[in-house]
Amino acid sequence: MIIFNENDFKNKIDQYRNESDYEKIIELCGDMIRFGEKNNHYRALIESYFQRGVSYYNIGDTKNAFNDLMHHKELIDKEGTNEDFLNSYNFIFVLHLYNEDYDKCKETLVSLINLCNRIDNKTILSNAYSNYSHVLNLECAYEEALTYADKSYSLAMRYNPDNEELVIRGLINLVKTYIYLGKLEESKNYLDKIKEMKILKGNKRILIFYYNLNANYFYKNNNKGKALEYFNESINLLKEYNDNVLLQESYEAVIQIYNENKDYKNLAFTQKLYIDLMHKIKEEELDQLTLSLEIQHQVKERHKRYKEIEEKNKMLELSNKKIVEQSKALESFYDQLWGKYYDKDSEAKRDFLTGIFNRQGIEEKLEEIAFYNKLQKESVSCLMFDIDYFKKVNDTYGHLAGDKVIKKTVELCKEIIGDRYVFGRYGGDEFVAIMEFTNLSEAKKMAEKIINAVRNNKIYIEDEDKEIQITLSVGVMNTKYHMISEVKDMIYIADLGLYNAKRKGRNQYDVYEENMLF
Ligand code: GH3
Ligand code: MG
Repeated sequence: MIIFNENDFKNKIDQYRNESDYEKIIELCGDMIRFGEKNNHYRALIESYFQRGVSYYNIGDTKNAFNDLMHHKELIDKEGTNEDFLNSYNFIFVLHLYNEDYDKCKETLVSLINLCNRIDNKTILSNAYSNYSHVLNLECAYEEALTYADKSYSLAMRYNPDNEELVIRGLINLVKTYIYLGKLEESKNYLDKIKEMKILKGNKRILIFYYNLNANYFYKNNNKGKALEYFNESINLLKEYNDNVLLQESYEAVIQIYNENKDYKNLAFTQKLYIDLMHKIKEEELDQLTLSLEIQHQVKERHKRYKEIEEKNKMLELSNKKIVEQSKALESFYDQLWGKYYDKDSEAKRDFLTGIFNRQGIEEKLEEIAFYNKLQKESVSCLMFDIDYFKKVNDTYGHLAGDKVIKKTVELCKEIIGDRYVFGRYGGDEFVAIMEFTNLSEAKKMAEKIINAVRNNKIYIEDEDKEIQITLSVGVMNTKYHMISEVKDMIYIADLGLYNAKRKGRNQYDVYEENMLF
């Protein structure tokens, strides 16, 4: 049984993220999405689509990341909190940036900026301005980029001066844009501000940005020696930091400078490093692709398995219902039977000689079964059997010996037929067994058992001091095999089988082979 507890869920996600186990996150979110859909649980759906989207992005599957974030957006439009919207805009922005769709980037940032203004969140607002400036720089709209970098920086300085990470984001964009614009004095000003900040010592990524900005500044200033120095500092850090994209950019810049300086020795050396890096990037991209394909496959498989299990559960539920209905019907049927068994006039339905049902008893049972069976449409079998050459027994050993043979035969058959089925003497040396929930092949097996048991049994005749053996012929019918229109046809068709068995030489059973009798 799955339940959704937001805190537990987030803790689990954090744990998996620390272990970089995105597969597990995707799996967990998939389970929660199924749970959420089944139970209309919006929180489970919102959290899961978001977390899964982020994980897809982390393994390089931006298509699925987008899908999940679009689902997420639809859901939060109905039931989302401000925090959900902040998460959504921030992450959708990252996805658009990855796809280099700058118009969409700006559109998303505008929504984010509006929301920040509405809820008065200056921190995220400053960050959004900074991102806006970054996009404008990518579009080479430097003047406008400068405005937004300035907004980001001023806002951070006014409301969060101690949040250096926020302040520096604005500063970095300012410096970058001034360099693009060739306004080197201004860029130097802001570079000096960055130099003073404590965060430079603690945050490698920011230090890398700082080195890069310096390198670009000196390059623009035609001081290629200094530019090289900074680029190489940044490269050394980047190797540790493992940011291939930035590393690639830095190599490209360094290669350009060596080329311009005609420093072919260093050029060749750096080009070799650059080529190695490109190989590594390709390999990593391939690894990522394989991982994302693998996860996609697993997700599909899991989904398939869930569907199968759901189907099976539905079928089980249905058959459970059926079983409950059947057992209720059975209960009432057996109540009836019980009542009938202790019926006052049950004597009238019993055979005087053997104690089993007589013809009237059998016919009544048949009516009951017909009534019940009409409701349940179950398979019912009927055996009709008759002692072979019974007249001879009477003629040879007398009527009393004949009675004994009948009694003994009933005893043997009763043992085999058991209490589950109706067993009675139809008349003279003819007997009937009616077996509910029994198909034709089970009925045939029963016929065979009876025949064997009777044939293999010896009956002792006292007066003659002799043991005799008799045989039976049996007709077999089944309601799923033979077509009947009314219940007495069961006896009729069984009798036709019996007739055939006699005709074929007795001591055997037979099934009447004409299906379309009536
Ligand atoms: P088949 O193999 O064709 O069945 O030959 P059969 O001799 O058994 O012929 P059938 O079944 O027609 O004979 C039935 C005989 O059973 C006729 C009747 O005299 C005898 N009978 C009927 N009821 C009783 C009874 O209660 N006791 C005795 N001892 N005989 C009975
Ligand atoms: Mg007979």
